[in-house]
Amino acid sequence: MASTKRTRILMIYTGGTIGMMENPDTHALEPFPFENLLKNVPKISMLDFDVETFQFKKPLDSSSMNPTHWGEIAEIIRKNYDDYDGFVVLHGTDTMAYTASALSFMLENLTKPVVITGSQLPIGEVRTDGEENLITALQVAAARDRYGNHIVREVAILFENYLWRGNRSTKHSSTNFNAFTSNNYPPLAKIGLGISFNDYALWHPTKAEEQQTLKVHLGMDTNVLYLDLFPGIREDHVRHLLNTPGVKGIIMKTFGAGNGPTEPWFLKLIREAVDRGMVIVNITQCSNGSVHPRRYVTGYELLQAGVIPGHDLTPEAAITKMMYLFGKNLSIEEVKEQMECPIAGEMTCL
Ligand code: ASP
Repeated sequence: MASTKRTRILMIYTGGTIGMMENPDTHALEPFPFENLLKNVPKISMLDFDVETFQFKKPLDSSSMNPTHWGEIAEIIRKNYDDYDGFVVLHGTDTMAYTASALSFMLENLTKPVVITGSQLPIGEVRTDGEENLITALQVAAARDRYGNHIVREVAILFENYLWRGNRSTKHSSTNFNAFTSNNYPPLAKIGLGISFNDYALWHPTKAEEQQTLKVHLGMDTNVLYLDLFPGIREDHVRHLLNTPGVKGIIMKTFGAGNGPTEPWFLKLIREAVDRGMVIVNITQCSNGSVHPRRYVTGYELLQAGVIPGHDLTPEAAITKMMYLFGKNLSIEEVKEQMECPIAGEMTCL
């Protein structure tokens, strides 16, 4: 049932370039308190809905974000979930795709918009992209369909001309205003003169899912690593990495459709690690496409060795999903099973 109450959006400021100012001594950009940001966007008061704000005690450059900060954002959303119609998270661009992916797993049964945005230029600069991104993110978070339902019911990234699914997105440019993309999933919306939503790409919870209450998972297990293959990778280095004390899971970035060397030492090390209980997930180094481990013998050997196909997962979604699953204290078999299947729209299994 559509509500007749005035829409309320909670804006959570975590830091990032959008709110930074130049340090007069070093000339480097540093995070700045929120008032500075709001002072530069008087247009917020012209919106036909209410915007309230919450700021991190110490705004961060997102390169310093870790799972504790993701948990802080998730907790703020949980505490305010019933009181607001949507959430906008202001965040640095560098690790935005990791935060978006992590939150998509941590916020189970989410049915309200969580729109993450930031900017390439500080909001105080004349040519800033921050003002437009901020205002559009607020409008996306407040958007309802003609029946009065939220249009966005998932974690998304809004940047310049597009709205992307959070766990499908990646930062692909350090200089362009269109800094984000999704290489394997269409945009949730295109931003031009208007905001044009792609209904077929948006997340639509089932009736049963709609009845569930928001469940926040704060446990993220960071005993995970990437193994990035390259021609010439050394046996002693791979052995060292696979035997890192405490590590439970590895995201292996492989060539093309999921291929790796078939040299006996390599396959032996992988097999031994899997036999010891290590979860190894295969994702491709290609920015577009999926792993197809049965296409070439090189991929098939990995499958035979017990490596799990990660389909078209982004590196950001793969590593945060693994942290989330291990954080739930699931058995190794359960982690493997769930790494192979979508749980929050993060992968397509062909
Ligand atoms: N280093 C900044 C950050 O990620 C970059 C940005 O916000 O664009 O916080």
